[in-house]
Amino acid sequence: MTDIQTVKVYVSLGSNIGDTEDNLNQAVARLEKYDGIDPEVWSETYETEPQGLKDQPWFSNQIVRFAVDPELWSAEGFLSTLQAVEGQMDRVRGEVNGPRTIDLDIVLFGDRVINSGEYLTVPHPRALDRAFVLHPLAEIDPELVFPDGTTVVEALNRITYRIDGKRIYQD
Ligand code: ATP
Ligand code: MG
Ligand code: MG
Repeated sequence: MTDIQTVKVYVSLGSNIGDTEDNLNQAVARLEKYDGIDPEVWSETYETEPQGLKDQPWFSNQIVRFAVDPELWSAEGFLSTLQAVEGQMDRVRGEVNGPRTIDLDIVLFGDRVINSGEYLTVPHPRALDRAFVLHPLAEIDPELVFPDGTTVVEALNRITYRIDGKRIYQD
C-alpha cells in the first residue's frame, strides 16, 4: 500500500474574544474531525499587539500545519471548511482585522499559488508583512520557502517587529 501524498497546509489562527487559547484549541479539534485534515505541527501561542484597529484586546495567534489529502480537499473547499468552523464558533463578521472569537486563514497550501478572485488568495496576501504569521512559521519550519522563492527568514528580516517572550509587538 502506498502512502497518501498529503499537502502541507499552514493555517494562521487568531482570537481576541473569550478564552482565546481555548478558542484556538477548539478550532483545531473541530478541523481534526474531518477526513483528510490532520494537524501535524503546532507553533507556540503568541500574544500579539492588534494591527490596524488598536482599540481592541491583544490577540492569541498560532500557526498550525495540517497534512491535507488533496484527493479530498481543494484549497477552496478547505477554506469553506475553515469558514464553517468560524461560523460554528460564533464568529461575527464585522470589521476586517476587528475583534473575533476565531479567525482561520490559509497562509500556504503546499506550493500552490491561487488567485480565485476575492474568495481565495494563496499565499495569504498579507502573510509576508505580519510578524504574528512569520515568527511562528519560522518556529515550526525554519527552512520554509514561499512559492516566489522568499524564505521565511528573509521575510522576517524585512519587517520591523519586537518579540518579548511570547509577546509580539508590531505597529
Ligand atoms: P486578513 O485577511 O487581513 O487577515 P481577516 O482574516 O480579518 O483579514 P476575514 O473577514 O476573515 O478577513 O476574511 C475576508 C475574506 O478573505 C474572506 O471572505 C475570504 O474569502 C477571503 N480570503 C482570501 N484569501 C484568503 C486566505 N488565504 N485565507 C482566508 N481567507 C481568505
Ligand atoms: Mg486574518
Ligand atoms: Mg480571515
